[in-house]
Order: sequence, then structure tokens, then C-alpha cells
Amino acid sequence: MTKPTAMKNLTVYEIDTLSEIYNLTDGHAFRPWSPAEETIIEGAANLFRQYNRQMQAQIEREYVRDFLTLGKQTIEMEEIGYLMCFTASMAFEIIANYLRMNELSLCLIEPCFDNLADIYKRHDLQMDPFEDAYLDAPVDQFTDYLQGISADVICLVTPNNPTGTVLSEANTRALVQFCKDHNKLLILDNCFRGYMPRDTVFDQYQIVLDAGIDCMMIEDTGKTWPTVEVKAPFFSITKARGLFDSIYDIYTDFLLHISPFGIKLVHEFIKLSMEDEMAYIHDLTRTNRNALYKNLEGTFLTPVEKDFASMVWLRIENGMSGFEVKEMLDEAGIFVLPGDYFYWSDKSLGRNYIRVALSRDPDLFSIAATQIGKVCRQVERMPVLFGG
Ligand SMILES: *Cc1c(COP(=O)(O)O)cnc(C)c1O
Repeated sequence: MTKPTAMKNLTVYEIDTLSEIYNLTDGHAFRPWSPAEETIIEGAANLFRQYNRQMQAQIEREYVRDFLTLGKQTIEMEEIGYLMCFTASMAFEIIANYLRMNELSLCLIEPCFDNLADIYKRHDLQMDPFEDAYLDAPVDQFTDYLQGISADVICLVTPNNPTGTVLSEANTRALVQFCKDHNKLLILDNCFRGYMPRDTVFDQYQIVLDAGIDCMMIEDTGKTWPTVEVKAPFFSITKARGLFDSIYDIYTDFLLHISPFGIKLVHEFIKLSMEDEMAYIHDLTRTNRNALYKNLEGTFLTPVEKDFASMVWLRIENGMSGFEVKEMLDEAGIFVLPGDYFYWSDKSLGRNYIRVALSRDPDLFSIAATQIGKVCRQVERMPVLFGG
């Protein structure tokens, strides 16, 4: 009974809904600016004039320093190389080239945003799924699970998109030790770290440095600060065993340097978040999450997630598929993502999920949340149509 909507990947659906008002598809930060953020934008022309490539190295150094300070991470300019890129996906493309050239197999988190898996697949890498639920499992269970991994490389997203699950500190230590003992390369995508409750953020870099393993970590701004796709992502690569030099060879095929203006603009947004310890962004996320939760109470959509990240992952409890719920919400002018594509090893595992993005104007979001609740309640009164 499922009518699969032809959709090449999640991003195509996100592009198709860009013009919509109640667009809750992509996880990019798109919301009105606070007065303090407006002031930064007013000063943008000055940043554009003031900073040029002669200052590039210093601009990057100062930016990375503040970014990682806000993220509560050790900064180690000698032992780690930081490579800036225009999008986080570009870092993955570079990494995927390295893995293919070295014939490395991969264990990749699942569920996971589909473009990560698709980038790796395009390079024909052999891939096994790493189950999201283990990220924060008790450390003995986690360690047992690791014993089953034969791949050369482990790639995790933490907090994960779409579930918000975090690789716990104890499990990070266990994983790093496992990588050391078995000579594995570790890749951590930290694109959503900014949303973690401040008292739960811990120093991943120090754990990696202490062990001396090969590791790459992807850092991003696009999901957190609303800078209209002016972004300043980078990826961090350990230098101890020569990994950095190999990656740098590939990196320089792709770019000379990213925009110093872009870095400075994003840097200003990050300084604001340093002042308020992320409070503005966390408050807005909480407001929108609460609005959605409240409207979904007693409906067939149940949050199954850690409740801090900028998206809500919902399980559909009445047997409808994510596509069916998505199409029903499309009709009501509210746009969300179906869950299938997040399960890259077997789409059917994601059949009964949808994802709702939260980084939006709270006034608009509140209307959308009300509408979603209303549509769900209407469906519940039409059990024949949807077969309970
Ligand atoms: C969005 C996303 C990316 C890619 O970010 P872009 O800068 O848009 O390429 C990478 N990793 C995760 C987990 C993401 O959600």
C-alpha cells in the first residue's frame, strides 16, 4: 500500500521544499536573527573590506582557537592539523578519497544522514553499519560490540543526526583504546556538538591525543549559526603517524583557501555564543521542541531521541510509513523528512520514522507544530483509511 515517492536522496527533497514557509526538512540553521546578531550583520561590509588572504593563516588560527574553546576541546596546533573547507561534506569527500586509495573498509553509524553514506558508497568502500543505540550503552556492552568490528575505519556522528545519541565519554575512551589496540582509524563527526547541554560536553581531542591514534574530526557551523550558508567548517587530523600529510595532498586538489570574510563573519557569531555559553541557541531549540512535543501528546507520533539537538526524531506508532505521514503533512503545507533514507544499509528499518527540523522561527514553528498535531488527530478519527 506504500506509494514510494520518487526521491533521489534527502537533499533533493530539502531543495524542493526551500521555497516553503513551513519547511522543517533540512537541519540547517534558518531563523530570524537576535538583535546582537543583527549588529554583526550590520558590520559585515567592514569585515569584507578589512580581511584579506594575507591574514589567512592568522584568521584561521584565531577562529579555530575560539571554536574549539567554545566546544571545550583541547587545542594543539603542533600535533593536529586543522583544514578548513566550504562544507562539511567536502571534508567527507576528501576523506573518502583517502580511504579508497588505501583500500580501507568502513564501519559507519546508522541511522545517519544519507549524504555521508552516499559519499562513501560512491567511492565503492566496503561498509558495515554501527548501531546508533550502542553509542551511549554501558561501557561493557559497548566494548563487547566493538569486538565484532572487522573494518579498518570507524566513522561515527556524535551527537548523531537524527537521534541526538552521544558517544559517551566512557565509550569514547573505550573506542579510542580499541582503535589503538587494533590499529583502526577513527572518524568523528561533531557537527552537532554545539547543541549538547554544556555540562555534558567533554574533551574528545585530549582523549585522542593521549592515545596517539590516527583520528579525524569534522567540525561544522552550518547547523548551529544562522549565517545564510556562509559557513566555516574544518576537519582536524592527527599528525603523529603521517595521516595529516596524506590528507593534505588530497585537500590541496580541492581548494586554495576558504573566504576570510566567511570565517570572520562566522567567528563573530561564535564570539556571541561564547558570551552567553550557547544559551540563546539552546533556548530557541527548547522552545520549538516543547511546542512540538506538546502538540504531539497522545498522537501516534512519539519522540524517540535525546531531547537537545536541533531536530526531532519521531516514531510512527499506527503502522503508517514515513512516506505516508510526510505526504499527508505535505498536503497540509508542512514539510518534514521521511525516515527511510537515514538507514543506509536497509531503508526498511527507517520505514516508521520522520524527522522534524527545529532551527526555525519560533512563531512559524509554533503554527507548524499545531498543524502537525491537528493532522495527526484527524487521521486517528479515520482508522479505516489507514488501517490502524
Ligand atoms: C549536515 C551534516 C553534514 C554536512 O554539512 P554540510 O556543511 O552541509 O556539507 C555533515 N555531517 C552531519 C552529521 C550533518 O548533519
